[in-house]
Amino acid sequence: MIQIKDLHKSYHMGSNSLHVLKGINFDVKEGELVSIMGSSGSGKSTLLNILGMLDEADEGSYVLDNVPIKNLNEKVAAKYRNEFLGFIFQSFNLINYKTAVDNVALPMYYKGMSRKERVEKAHHYLEKVGLADWSHHLPSELSGGQKQRVAIARALASEPKVLLADEPTGALDSKTSYEVMDLIQGINDEGKTILVVTHEDDIAQMTKRIVNLKDGIIIDDSLVEQVRAQQYV
Ligand code: ATP
Ligand code: MG
Repeated sequence: MIQIKDLHKSYHMGSNSLHVLKGINFDVKEGELVSIMGSSGSGKSTLLNILGMLDEADEGSYVLDNVPIKNLNEKVAAKYRNEFLGFIFQSFNLINYKTAVDNVALPMYYKGMSRKERVEKAHHYLEKVGLADWSHHLPSELSGGQKQRVAIARALASEPKVLLADEPTGALDSKTSYEVMDLIQGINDEGKTILVVTHEDDIAQMTKRIVNLKDGIIIDDSLVEQVRAQQYV
């Protein structure tokens, strides 16, 4: 589903430049649930933004669902982004004056779907994340965990091939974090390919594979069951 080869990315500020990604290689197969770990500043969000087509690498190649992502004009990029990718953020990024159902329905508006179809789909996905009874509430009336569920429903509603989550539990207490990760695991069980950026080990342990970033390179890439097996020898 995802193939990246020798990805490099630097940021330039005046005469200073910061080489953040220094040759990243990895593949993600359809149906995987992968976490990207690393300390603050290690380049996790930079990598996820490139995978999410929100930013471009300076060097290297990125193939998403057999499409080489390189030098696309913004219109084509936006089309692929809407078709292939769903995003979940630490801060939920909901629209405060819209109800849960309208937040979930909004991206489908930009896909040209009729209001009736959008609302039906939004209700379906809210039900899927356990919020059937909360569809007409505003974000301010929801808990953090509920807000993240709305954001997950919104991401799913566009039926993306890959879900990209940047610190999805970063603003939540541990109990709520585990509940949100349970939901993410359930979505993965149904076959969705999911990448989760986190700096919390217990969250990463709830995925199936952990990719560890340090100083711009991948220092470890292991299946969680292998890591567990090693811990008990
Ligand atoms: P965190 O865990 O704190 O979210 P991260 O691993 O996601 O960290 P990035 O946000 O990818 O790290 O940042 C990697 C490095 O690049 C940091 O040193 C950061 O300051 C720098 N950086 C990120 N975005 C930019 C930008 N747009 N311009 C300049 N420097 C940037
Ligand atoms: Mg980050």
